[in-house]
Amino acid sequence: MHDIDQAPIANPQTVNVDGLGCHSGKEQMLSAAKSAGKSETLDQYAKDYPKGPHDQPQSMCPAFGSLRVGLRMRRTATVLSGSACCVYGLTFTSHFYGARRTVGYVPFNSESLVTGKLFEDIREATYKLADPSLYDSIVIINLCVPTASGVPLQLLPKEINGVRIIGIDVPGFGVPTHAEAKDVLAGAMLKYAIGEAEQGPVQAPRHGKNEKPTISIVGEVFPVDPMTIGMMLEPMGLAAGPVVPTREWRELYAALDCAAVAAIHPFYTASLRQFSAAGRTVIGSAPVGYDGTESWLQNIGVATNTPQDKIDLAKNRILPAIKAALSAAPIKGRITMSGYEGSELLVARLLVESGADLRYVGTACPQTQWSDLDREWLEAHGVHVQYRASLEQDLAAMREFKPDLAIGTTPIVQAAKQATIPGLYFTNLISARPLMGPAGAGSLATVVNAALANKGRFEAMKDFFTGVGEGHTSGVWEAANGVPQDRPEFKDYTKRQVIKLMKMKKAEEMI
Ligand code: SF4
Repeated sequence: MHDIDQAPIANPQTVNVDGLGCHSGKEQMLSAAKSAGKSETLDQYAKDYPKGPHDQPQSMCPAFGSLRVGLRMRRTATVLSGSACCVYGLTFTSHFYGARRTVGYVPFNSESLVTGKLFEDIREATYKLADPSLYDSIVIINLCVPTASGVPLQLLPKEINGVRIIGIDVPGFGVPTHAEAKDVLAGAMLKYAIGEAEQGPVQAPRHGKNEKPTISIVGEVFPVDPMTIGMMLEPMGLAAGPVVPTREWRELYAALDCAAVAAIHPFYTASLRQFSAAGRTVIGSAPVGYDGTESWLQNIGVATNTPQDKIDLAKNRILPAIKAALSAAPIKGRITMSGYEGSELLVARLLVESGADLRYVGTACPQTQWSDLDREWLEAHGVHVQYRASLEQDLAAMREFKPDLAIGTTPIVQAAKQATIPGLYFTNLISARPLMGPAGAGSLATVVNAALANKGRFEAMKDFFTGVGEGHTSGVWEAANGVPQDRPEFKDYTKRQVIKLMKMKKAEEMI
């Protein structure tokens, strides 16, 4: 018999095989990718999507962001190149979120990866797909392993039979969040569209060119928000332009052909770089709440050389309605909030203006100049703003501030509910509703107040379930068989095994 500490590891090879992916082996992947010719791309990602204060937020596979943008575009085929398990997860998630398109996949094995056959397979698949009667563009996304192996998507033809080919690397070890992965694809498409516009005339928008100068909107927003923005801009002689990421290729030209750009979501660094390269002024923040709308309209007016009397007209038309909506739907209670969509600071502003005692807002996205106005406003109102927030920081904020409502990601909401604190999922319940103008103020208050009113129900449930057991005793047990016993020695054993495996891996890395 072995002492429990000396027990052999069953199959150390499995650790090596399974060790490359989003859950481990990141440094190896990164250095493999760099030595396989991806240094330039990865260095640009490191600049566009700075990490820290910790390594990477805990979030879904980043490639989902690019995949979702591709799947939402008309006449666009989206093809993944990556490990089957990653493709399975990404396909599942896309259909869970209602994708109505097929996800393309070019499979590989070690041999086709090492010999370069994978690239030939991708090339062949792209040629087969490139039917101009079906598609305007084909997006090919290199996931972690093909990026680390240097599969050179940049060598694909730029266009086949008139169908544009966009190849991008979206590895989990280079792009921190799925939000920023949306930017990787949107930025690549804008760059391509600028190149086309420089060559000569391009396709007009589906409903014709807007007669007024437009403000392009960067960031996925609730469908009614662009209409609200258009209504607010109207007194200034301006109109709302397309939303980037666009839903159709030809909208890219219309987006570029704007008077100014509204960076509603501030993390679209690569896309905003393309707009700046096209000579467009970028304005941060958004028309959210009273103060936010007032300063946003002023900044848009100045950027578009609109006379002050027209800017004032726009403000006078909308601000009283926003004030009325805010005071008609006050929020009373202490709240902590976090999310990974990129709109967290905007929602936070609206909560504060609605009267909420907001103490903390965490976002998985990085700090950029486009969120400075929102951060400064929130900090001036006593809110702690945490960029690249980790789950641990979000949980610590909840413990410290003991809110009446915790808005956040799934694990935050779960932890809140366990602590008898009402919780709301940011992605499903907060970011899927209007934010701008009077509609935003009323809509947010409805859902938040309903959740705040749930405190009594949580307490009643806690009373009801008290004593049914938790941890190793949770569940329904036959009294005759007794309640399960805690086995701390089993937990210690497993913990020691994991530590041992990690040490082995570390030692192998150093060889
Ligand atoms: S592609 Fe996504 S799921 Fe696959 S290893 Fe990379 S980060 Fe993980």
